[in-house]
Amino acid sequence: GATSDVLTAWSDAEGAARARDLFTATFGAPPAGVWAAPGRVNIVGEHTDYNGGLCLPIALPHRTFVALRPRADRTARFVSAQEPGVREVELDAVAPAGAPGAVEGWPAYAAGVAWALEREGLAPAGRVPGFDLAVDSCVPYGAGLSSSAALECAVAVALDDVAGLGLSADDAGRARLAAACVRAENDIAGAPTGGMDQAASLRARAGHALLLDCRDGAVEHVPLDLAAAGLALLVMDTRAPHRLVDGQYARRRQVCEDAAAVLGVPSLREVADASMAGETTWDEVLAGLDDPEQRMRVRHVISEIERVRFLVARLTHAPGAQLRGWALDKVAWALDASHTSLREDYEVSSPELDLAADTARRLGAHGARMTGGGFGGSAIALVDADRAGAVAAGVADAFAVAGYGPPAFLLASAAAPAGPVTA
Ligand code: ADP
Ligand code: MG
Repeated sequence: GATSDVLTAWSDAEGAARARDLFTATFGAPPAGVWAAPGRVNIVGEHTDYNGGLCLPIALPHRTFVALRPRADRTARFVSAQEPGVREVELDAVAPAGAPGAVEGWPAYAAGVAWALEREGLAPAGRVPGFDLAVDSCVPYGAGLSSSAALECAVAVALDDVAGLGLSADDAGRARLAAACVRAENDIAGAPTGGMDQAASLRARAGHALLLDCRDGAVEHVPLDLAAAGLALLVMDTRAPHRLVDGQYARRRQVCEDAAAVLGVPSLREVADASMAGETTWDEVLAGLDDPEQRMRVRHVISEIERVRFLVARLTHAPGAQLRGWALDKVAWALDASHTSLREDYEVSSPELDLAADTARRLGAHGARMTGGGFGGSAIALVDADRAGAVAAGVADAFAVAGYGPPAFLLASAAAPAGPVTA
């Protein structure tokens, strides 16, 4: 059969050595330190963030490492093992995406964080120094695992430390750093993002999934020890090109906003809550919408928010080794139902995502679904740990038979959030 490519996470020692070596080779002296931030994968709660809803990501063991040294001026210099060349940006000249003087390409994500720390009022003007920065990462690009947030959040904790802001010390400070990273990505990199990625990278806890309430930014940590139950979370990166993704994302957001206006609520979250409280039913809600597209999208959003609550309850009642049997069947049901809803009602899946999820299920997965925004990227499957290799190989075979390019795989566990690397 086709060989399957499993992307292992670097140890802190390996990632730090790589970033440090690149820094020294590029800038001719060692960095002041190395910081790292994880990519993330969302277990359930897709396209709910911009509806004030709930999502349930984990921080990946796969991290982006940044070596950084502050400078005496306001110049920032950037090098990345994943990108060609050395780039230079004047921090005082950073301008929003699309405006004259906008930062081109990947340094926008990093320079944007320095810019946003001041714009968000987290650092007095001029307090964030210029810096030299070297990046290396084992988080794949564009796989729906949020390499962009991993980069922003690693830079955020690095600048927080060197500028002495102290925001990384507690969750309230980390929530503010996350907001600055969102602003960097939206305004300076010019990419829409709803906030889940940065929250996962900065605010998750090892051994826990992060229940994020996107309406008020509140978080809860849900214990998640899949290994204790003999389970593993297999991430299947389709490596398929994203199709139509920009316009489609904006359109989904708009339809949800329009539907909320018709229903007379600030966001679709209120409708989901009313339904869960037994104050209304899905049928009543949907009967209030004349537009068939709005009805489909709303059905996804409110059912998806309910699935987050449902899954959190199952995981809480059957923690660790107890997640077998009936409890596991319920988790599988919720994951599969999420995929169906995203494919049929939200229409953001793709043939490659469907094939990955279907094949994993056929090979015994306890639930499988696309994850991330859709139209490409990754799917996840909850598998018996000793079956992970066989499921990956089977999915790779199915892709070869279908004439798709080879997918990549990684094993996800609930890992630690962004911080300094002491290794
Ligand atoms: P993802 O789903 O991986 O977040 P995005 O398109 O949002 O995909 O972000 C990918 C972009 O983030 C890259 O094209 C690049 O501009 C930037 N980026 C992420 N990781 C790195 C890195 N290690 N080095 C340089 N740029 C990076
Ligand atoms: Mg991204």
